[in-house]
Amino acid sequence: MSESDFRTVLGVIPGVDAQDGAGVKLKRSLGGPRLQHFDPFLLLDEFRSDQAGDYIAGFPDHPHRGFETVTYMLAGRMRHRDNQGNSGLLQSGGAQWMTAGRGIVHSEMPEQEDGLMWGFQLWVNLPAADKMTAPRYQDIEPGDIPEVERPGGARVRIVAGELGGVAGPVSGIATKPLYYDVALPAEGRFDEAVPEGHNAFVYVYGGGLGIGSHTLSEGQMALLNDGARVEVRARGGEARFLLIAGQPIGEPVARYGPFVMNTKEEIIQAFRDYEAGKF
Ligand code: FE
Repeated sequence: MSESDFRTVLGVIPGVDAQDGAGVKLKRSLGGPRLQHFDPFLLLDEFRSDQAGDYIAGFPDHPHRGFETVTYMLAGRMRHRDNQGNSGLLQSGGAQWMTAGRGIVHSEMPEQEDGLMWGFQLWVNLPAADKMTAPRYQDIEPGDIPEVERPGGARVRIVAGELGGVAGPVSGIATKPLYYDVALPAEGRFDEAVPEGHNAFVYVYGGGLGIGSHTLSEGQMALLNDGARVEVRARGGEARFLLIAGQPIGEPVARYGPFVMNTKEEIIQAFRDYEAGKF
């Protein structure tokens, strides 16, 4: 294994404080002012608070078309409901991979009045051929996310993709994503293969993490250059991070709020269809 096989840091994006929904406080890295798009990824938010006022108003009814939203909960409970009769309860340690496709209107509301609410929402783009597909949900119970222990001490929960011959529960996604939640002990080292040609990033949500000559702290995302492997080390104690990768789509992105299409005309059509109640 030569040094050049390891993915190096292309850029570091700090999470910035933001609000979305009905005033939910969150930290936005990708999809914020610094970078709109890291193909196929469109947004990453971390929400983390034990103050009910920061999250209790939730995300009331809003539409999506043309991409996927992925919610992963570390703590707390969130109720999901859409306008087509689907409902699900996201629990601590669980995930939901929602393919919005041609459109849904949904709400994502906390189902607790106090206590810690901590999790992430990732937006993943869809290729043109799949943007108008029927909506699809993959609701993943906490116990259905496998956890593997790896050389170097990493404990990895596999939401999507495969590691050490163990596959995560999410399947049939166009961009062949990998979504790992990794806990590294102090001095621990994570060194794993990631598909070459796929875009990958690391988001640190606990402790410090070394990648090459960079040190990332809590709330920072590192976009990675291409390469065959990702190697990171815990710095100054335990570290917790997400490692996410996916196949780039390579198509034009037209984006407005909750609609992500290929052209401006398709965005206008999305507004028309939404206004006409066609979602
Ligand atoms: Fe939503």
